[in-house]
Amino acid sequence: MLTTLIVPCYNEEAVLPLLYRSLTEEAEKLKNKTEFEFIFVDDGSGDGTLDILKKLAEKDERVTYLSFSRNFGKEAAMFAGLKNAGGDYVAIMDADMQDPPSLLPEMFRLLEEEGYDSVATRRVSRVGEPRLRSMGARVFYRIINRISDADIVDGARDFRLMKRKMVDAVVAMGEYHRFSKGIFGWVGFRTCWLPFENVERAAGETKWSFWSLVRYSVEGIINFSQVPLSIASWCGIGLTGVSFFMVIFIIVRKLLFGDPVAGWPSLACIIVFLGGIQLLCMGIMGQYIAKTYMEVKGRPHYIIGESNRKDISRIS
Ligand code: UDP
Ligand code: MG
Repeated sequence: MLTTLIVPCYNEEAVLPLLYRSLTEEAEKLKNKTEFEFIFVDDGSGDGTLDILKKLAEKDERVTYLSFSRNFGKEAAMFAGLKNAGGDYVAIMDADMQDPPSLLPEMFRLLEEEGYDSVATRRVSRVGEPRLRSMGARVFYRIINRISDADIVDGARDFRLMKRKMVDAVVAMGEYHRFSKGIFGWVGFRTCWLPFENVERAAGETKWSFWSLVRYSVEGIINFSQVPLSIASWCGIGLTGVSFFMVIFIIVRKLLFGDPVAGWPSLACIIVFLGGIQLLCMGIMGQYIAKTYMEVKGRPHYIIGESNRKDISRIS
Protein backbone atom coordinates (compact mmCIF):
# COMPACT_ATOMS: atom_id res chain seq x y z
CA MET A 1 0.00 0.00 0.00
CA LEU A 2 1.34 3.38 -1.06
CA THR A 3 0.15 6.87 -0.16
CA THR A 4 1.17 9.90 -2.20
CA LEU A 5 1.39 13.36 -0.61
CA ILE A 6 1.31 16.24 -3.07
CA VAL A 7 2.60 19.64 -2.02
CA PRO A 8 2.41 22.64 -4.37
CA CYS A 9 5.21 25.07 -3.48
CA TYR A 10 5.64 28.61 -4.68
CA ASN A 11 8.44 30.51 -2.96
CA GLU A 12 8.21 28.38 0.16
CA GLU A 13 11.87 28.11 1.18
CA ALA A 14 11.00 29.35 4.67
CA VAL A 15 8.55 26.59 5.50
CA LEU A 16 9.75 23.57 3.54
CA PRO A 17 12.17 22.25 6.19
CA LEU A 18 9.41 22.53 8.83
CA LEU A 19 6.90 20.82 6.58
CA TYR A 20 9.27 18.02 5.63
CA ARG A 21 10.04 17.33 9.28
CA SER A 22 6.40 17.08 10.20
CA LEU A 23 5.58 14.95 7.15
CA THR A 24 8.26 12.44 8.06
CA GLU A 25 6.90 12.32 11.61
CA GLU A 26 3.41 11.53 10.38
CA ALA A 27 4.78 8.97 7.92
CA GLU A 28 6.56 7.31 10.84
CA LYS A 29 3.29 7.08 12.79
CA LEU A 30 1.54 5.40 9.88
CA LYS A 31 4.42 3.20 8.82
CA ASN A 32 2.78 -0.13 9.60
CA LYS A 33 -0.24 0.79 7.48
CA THR A 34 1.25 2.40 4.39
CA GLU A 35 4.39 3.56 2.69
CA PHE A 36 4.68 7.13 1.49
CA GLU A 37 5.89 9.07 -1.51
CA PHE A 38 6.12 12.86 -1.43
CA ILE A 39 5.62 14.86 -4.62
CA PHE A 40 6.71 18.46 -4.27
CA VAL A 41 5.66 20.62 -7.20
CA ASP A 42 7.82 23.72 -7.50
CA ASP A 43 5.55 26.19 -9.23
CA GLY A 44 8.26 28.36 -10.80
CA SER A 45 9.61 29.66 -7.50
CA GLY A 46 12.12 32.48 -7.60
CA ASP A 47 13.74 31.70 -4.26
CA GLY A 48 15.68 28.71 -2.93
CA THR A 49 12.70 26.33 -3.02
CA LEU A 50 14.10 24.15 -5.80
CA ASP A 51 17.51 23.84 -4.12
CA ILE A 52 15.87 22.69 -0.91
CA LEU A 53 13.77 20.16 -2.82
CA LYS A 54 16.84 18.81 -4.62
CA LYS A 55 18.61 18.30 -1.30
CA LEU A 56 15.58 16.54 0.14
CA ALA A 57 15.36 14.28 -2.91
CA GLU A 58 19.04 13.38 -2.55
CA LYS A 59 18.80 12.18 1.00
CA ASP A 60 15.26 10.77 0.89
CA GLU A 61 14.28 8.53 -1.99
CA ARG A 62 10.58 8.97 -1.24
CA VAL A 63 10.83 12.57 -2.45
CA THR A 64 9.99 13.53 -6.02
CA TYR A 65 10.16 17.09 -7.24
CA LEU A 66 8.55 18.47 -10.36
CA SER A 67 9.79 21.93 -11.18
CA PHE A 68 7.72 24.03 -13.58
CA SER A 69 9.34 26.17 -16.24
CA ARG A 70 7.47 29.19 -14.84
CA ASN A 71 4.68 29.98 -12.39
CA PHE A 72 1.55 28.20 -13.64
CA GLY A 73 -0.55 28.63 -10.51
CA LYS A 74 -1.62 26.35 -7.70
CA GLU A 75 -4.30 24.59 -9.76
CA ALA A 76 -1.76 23.50 -12.37
CA ALA A 77 0.60 22.39 -9.61
CA MET A 78 -2.07 20.23 -7.99
CA PHE A 79 -2.96 18.76 -11.38
CA ALA A 80 0.66 17.86 -12.09
CA GLY A 81 0.88 16.17 -8.70
CA LEU A 82 -2.30 14.17 -9.21
CA LYS A 83 -1.26 13.09 -12.70
CA ASN A 84 2.03 11.72 -11.46
CA ALA A 85 0.83 10.26 -8.18
CA GLY A 86 1.30 6.51 -7.95
CA GLY A 87 -0.36 5.93 -4.58
CA ASP A 88 -3.48 3.95 -3.73
CA TYR A 89 -4.33 6.91 -1.53
CA VAL A 90 -3.44 10.46 -2.54
CA ALA A 91 -3.43 13.63 -0.44
CA ILE A 92 -2.93 17.24 -1.42
CA MET A 93 -1.71 19.76 1.12
CA ASP A 94 -0.35 23.31 1.23
CA ALA A 95 3.29 23.85 2.00
CA ASP A 96 2.71 26.41 4.72
CA MET A 97 1.35 24.01 7.38
CA GLN A 98 -2.07 25.65 7.23
CA ASP A 99 -3.24 22.17 6.33
CA PRO A 100 -2.06 20.44 9.50
CA PRO A 101 -0.21 17.20 8.64
CA SER A 102 -1.25 15.98 12.10
CA LEU A 103 -4.74 15.36 10.70
CA LEU A 104 -3.38 12.66 8.38
CA PRO A 105 -3.76 9.67 10.76
CA GLU A 106 -7.40 10.54 11.42
CA MET A 107 -8.07 11.04 7.70
CA PHE A 108 -6.43 7.73 7.03
CA ARG A 109 -8.59 6.00 9.61
CA LEU A 110 -11.77 7.43 8.09
CA LEU A 111 -10.90 6.02 4.66
CA GLU A 112 -9.82 2.65 5.99
CA GLU A 113 -12.47 1.97 8.58
CA GLU A 114 -15.51 4.06 7.75
CA GLY A 115 -15.54 3.26 4.05
CA TYR A 116 -15.37 6.82 2.75
CA ASP A 117 -13.80 7.47 -0.67
CA SER A 118 -12.34 10.80 0.35
CA VAL A 119 -11.81 12.88 3.45
CA ALA A 120 -11.89 16.61 2.90
CA THR A 121 -11.17 19.33 5.40
CA ARG A 122 -12.86 22.61 6.16
CA ARG A 123 -11.90 25.50 8.35
CA VAL A 124 -14.52 26.34 10.91
CA SER A 125 -12.88 29.61 11.86
CA ARG A 126 -10.99 32.22 9.95
CA VAL A 127 -9.02 33.66 12.84
CA GLY A 128 -6.07 35.73 11.72
CA GLU A 129 -7.50 36.46 8.30
CA PRO A 130 -8.37 39.99 7.10
CA ARG A 131 -12.05 40.86 7.73
CA LEU A 132 -12.77 41.85 4.12
CA ARG A 133 -11.38 38.55 2.92
CA SER A 134 -13.58 36.39 5.17
CA MET A 135 -16.62 38.43 4.22
CA GLY A 136 -15.85 38.10 0.50
CA ALA A 137 -15.38 34.36 0.93
CA ARG A 138 -18.78 33.98 2.60
CA VAL A 139 -20.56 35.92 -0.16
CA PHE A 140 -18.78 33.82 -2.78
CA TYR A 141 -19.84 30.50 -1.24
CA ARG A 142 -23.42 31.66 -0.94
CA ILE A 143 -23.59 32.76 -4.61
CA ILE A 144 -21.84 29.74 -6.09
CA ASN A 145 -23.93 27.22 -4.17
CA ARG A 146 -27.11 28.86 -5.28
CA ILE A 147 -26.30 28.99 -8.97
CA SER A 148 -23.96 26.10 -9.73
CA ASP A 149 -24.23 22.35 -10.03
CA ALA A 150 -21.17 21.66 -7.90
CA ASP A 151 -21.76 21.72 -4.20
CA ILE A 152 -19.02 23.68 -2.51
CA VAL A 153 -18.68 23.75 1.25
CA ASP A 154 -17.94 27.03 3.02
CA GLY A 155 -14.39 27.05 4.32
CA ALA A 156 -13.43 24.00 2.26
CA ARG A 157 -9.68 23.60 1.77
CA ASP A 158 -7.94 21.80 -1.03
CA PHE A 159 -6.45 19.57 1.70
CA ARG A 160 -7.93 16.12 1.24
CA LEU A 161 -7.09 12.43 1.13
CA MET A 162 -8.64 10.44 -1.72
CA LYS A 163 -8.81 6.87 -2.89
CA ARG A 164 -7.39 5.95 -6.29
CA LYS A 165 -10.76 5.81 -8.04
CA MET A 166 -11.51 9.42 -7.13
CA VAL A 167 -8.05 10.58 -8.20
CA ASP A 168 -8.57 8.96 -11.60
CA ALA A 169 -11.89 10.78 -11.97
CA VAL A 170 -10.34 14.13 -11.03
CA VAL A 171 -7.45 13.64 -13.47
CA ALA A 172 -9.92 12.72 -16.22
CA MET A 173 -11.39 16.21 -15.90
CA GLY A 174 -8.84 17.74 -18.21
CA GLU A 175 -10.19 21.27 -18.47
CA TYR A 176 -7.69 24.10 -18.84
CA HIS A 177 -9.32 26.42 -16.35
CA ARG A 178 -9.39 24.29 -13.27
CA PHE A 179 -11.31 25.01 -10.11
CA SER A 180 -10.53 22.08 -7.85
CA LYS A 181 -13.08 22.80 -5.15
CA GLY A 182 -15.76 22.48 -7.82
CA ILE A 183 -14.16 19.47 -9.50
CA PHE A 184 -13.97 17.49 -6.24
CA GLY A 185 -17.66 18.14 -5.64
CA TRP A 186 -18.62 17.41 -9.22
CA VAL A 187 -17.04 13.95 -9.42
CA GLY A 188 -19.08 12.83 -6.43
CA PHE A 189 -18.02 9.85 -4.26
CA ARG A 190 -18.59 9.49 -0.53
CA THR A 191 -16.84 12.37 1.14
CA CYS A 192 -16.39 12.94 4.86
CA TRP A 193 -15.84 16.52 6.01
CA LEU A 194 -13.35 17.01 8.77
CA PRO A 195 -13.59 20.42 10.47
CA PHE A 196 -10.56 22.09 12.02
CA GLU A 197 -9.60 25.46 13.50
CA ASN A 198 -7.72 27.85 11.24
CA VAL A 199 -3.96 27.73 11.64
CA GLU A 200 -1.82 30.65 10.61
CA ARG A 201 0.97 30.25 8.09
CA ALA A 202 4.11 28.82 9.74
CA ALA A 203 6.44 31.20 7.85
CA GLY A 204 6.68 33.16 4.62
CA GLU A 205 3.63 34.99 3.30
CA THR A 206 0.44 34.35 1.38
CA LYS A 207 0.60 34.31 -2.43
CA TRP A 208 -2.97 35.46 -2.88
CA SER A 209 -3.94 39.11 -3.01
CA PHE A 210 -7.55 40.19 -2.55
CA TRP A 211 -7.92 40.69 -6.30
CA SER A 212 -6.41 37.38 -7.25
CA LEU A 213 -9.02 35.78 -4.98
CA VAL A 214 -11.79 37.77 -6.68
CA ARG A 215 -10.56 36.57 -10.07
CA TYR A 216 -10.38 33.01 -8.79
CA SER A 217 -13.98 33.25 -7.52
CA VAL A 218 -15.27 34.52 -10.86
CA GLU A 219 -13.44 31.60 -12.46
CA GLY A 220 -15.18 29.20 -10.11
CA ILE A 221 -18.61 30.60 -10.90
CA ILE A 222 -18.08 30.65 -14.65
CA ASN A 223 -16.66 27.12 -14.63
CA PHE A 224 -19.53 25.56 -12.76
CA SER A 225 -22.59 27.59 -13.62
CA GLN A 226 -24.42 28.73 -16.72
CA VAL A 227 -26.78 30.94 -14.73
CA PRO A 228 -24.98 34.24 -15.49
CA LEU A 229 -25.54 33.53 -19.19
CA SER A 230 -29.28 33.54 -18.70
CA ILE A 231 -29.23 36.99 -17.08
CA ALA A 232 -29.46 38.50 -20.57
CA SER A 233 -32.57 36.47 -21.40
CA TRP A 234 -34.30 37.37 -18.14
CA CYS A 235 -33.50 41.07 -18.51
CA GLY A 236 -34.76 40.88 -22.08
CA ILE A 237 -38.06 39.30 -21.07
CA GLY A 238 -38.55 41.71 -18.17
CA LEU A 239 -37.78 44.81 -20.18
CA THR A 240 -39.99 43.74 -23.08
CA GLY A 241 -42.87 43.45 -20.61
CA VAL A 242 -42.13 46.86 -19.14
CA SER A 243 -41.94 48.52 -22.57
CA PHE A 244 -45.26 46.95 -23.56
CA PHE A 245 -46.97 48.58 -20.57
CA MET A 246 -45.21 51.86 -21.29
CA VAL A 247 -46.60 51.92 -24.83
CA ILE A 248 -50.14 51.23 -23.61
CA PHE A 249 -49.76 53.90 -20.93
CA ILE A 250 -48.64 56.52 -23.44
CA ILE A 251 -51.38 55.68 -25.98
CA VAL A 252 -54.11 55.76 -23.33
CA ARG A 253 -52.81 59.02 -21.89
CA LYS A 254 -52.66 60.59 -25.34
CA LEU A 255 -56.22 59.45 -26.24
CA LEU A 256 -57.82 60.41 -22.91
CA PHE A 257 -55.94 63.56 -22.00
CA GLY A 258 -54.20 64.64 -25.19
CA ASP A 259 -50.91 65.15 -23.24
CA PRO A 260 -47.84 65.77 -25.34
CA VAL A 261 -45.19 63.07 -24.78
CA ALA A 262 -42.63 64.23 -22.20
CA GLY A 263 -39.25 65.30 -23.51
CA TRP A 264 -35.76 63.93 -23.78
CA PRO A 265 -34.50 63.50 -20.16
CA SER A 266 -36.61 60.40 -19.60
CA LEU A 267 -35.55 59.11 -23.00
CA ALA A 268 -31.89 59.66 -22.22
CA CYS A 269 -32.25 57.74 -18.94
CA ILE A 270 -33.89 54.81 -20.70
CA ILE A 271 -31.19 54.67 -23.37
CA VAL A 272 -28.40 54.75 -20.83
CA PHE A 273 -30.13 52.11 -18.73
CA LEU A 274 -30.61 49.75 -21.66
CA GLY A 275 -27.12 50.42 -22.96
CA GLY A 276 -25.75 49.50 -19.54
CA ILE A 277 -27.65 46.25 -19.34
CA GLN A 278 -26.66 45.30 -22.87
CA LEU A 279 -22.98 45.92 -22.17
CA LEU A 280 -23.17 43.96 -18.92
CA CYS A 281 -24.71 40.98 -20.67
CA MET A 282 -22.21 41.15 -23.50
CA GLY A 283 -19.45 41.27 -20.93
CA ILE A 284 -20.77 38.13 -19.26
CA MET A 285 -21.03 36.36 -22.61
CA GLY A 286 -17.52 37.55 -23.38
CA GLN A 287 -16.24 35.85 -20.23
CA TYR A 288 -17.67 32.53 -21.33
CA ILE A 289 -16.41 32.94 -24.88
CA ALA A 290 -12.94 33.75 -23.60
CA LYS A 291 -12.98 30.57 -21.52
CA THR A 292 -14.19 28.56 -24.51
CA TYR A 293 -11.40 30.08 -26.60
CA MET A 294 -8.76 28.99 -24.11
CA GLU A 295 -10.24 25.49 -23.79
CA VAL A 296 -10.40 25.06 -27.56
CA LYS A 297 -6.76 25.97 -27.95
CA GLY A 298 -5.95 22.97 -25.78
CA ARG A 299 -2.75 24.41 -24.37
CA PRO A 300 -0.87 22.30 -21.83
CA HIS A 301 -1.64 22.93 -18.15
CA TYR A 302 2.01 23.02 -17.19
CA ILE A 303 5.53 22.49 -18.49
CA ILE A 304 8.04 20.70 -16.30
CA GLY A 305 11.53 22.11 -16.60
CA GLU A 306 13.31 19.81 -14.16
CA SER A 307 12.59 16.71 -12.17
CA ASN A 308 14.37 13.82 -10.48
CA ARG A 309 11.95 11.41 -12.12
CA LYS A 310 12.50 10.23 -15.66
CA ASP A 311 9.19 8.46 -16.31
CA ILE A 312 7.01 11.56 -16.32
CA SER A 313 5.54 13.46 -19.23
CA ARG A 314 7.04 16.92 -19.07
CA ILE A 315 4.28 18.69 -20.89
CA SER A 316 0.68 18.04 -20.04
N1 UDP B 1 0.89 28.12 -4.49
C1 UDP B 1 1.35 27.63 -5.72
N2 UDP B 1 1.35 28.47 -6.80
C2 UDP B 1 0.88 29.76 -6.74
C3 UDP B 1 0.40 30.23 -5.49
C4 UDP B 1 0.42 29.38 -4.40
O1 UDP B 1 1.74 26.49 -5.83
O2 UDP B 1 0.91 30.46 -7.75
C5 UDP B 1 0.89 27.22 -3.31
C6 UDP B 1 1.65 27.75 -2.12
O3 UDP B 1 3.02 27.44 -2.19
C7 UDP B 1 0.97 27.04 -0.96
C8 UDP B 1 -0.47 26.91 -1.46
O4 UDP B 1 -0.43 27.07 -2.86
O5 UDP B 1 1.52 25.75 -0.75
C9 UDP B 1 -1.40 27.91 -0.81
O6 UDP B 1 -0.90 29.21 -0.95
P1 UDP B 1 -0.98 30.30 0.19
O7 UDP B 1 -0.64 29.69 1.51
O8 UDP B 1 -0.16 31.46 -0.24
O9 UDP B 1 -2.52 30.66 0.14
P2 UDP B 1 -3.48 30.97 1.39
O10 UDP B 1 -3.29 29.86 2.38
O11 UDP B 1 -3.07 32.28 1.92
O12 UDP B 1 -4.86 30.96 0.78
MG1 MG C 1 -1.67 29.30 3.17
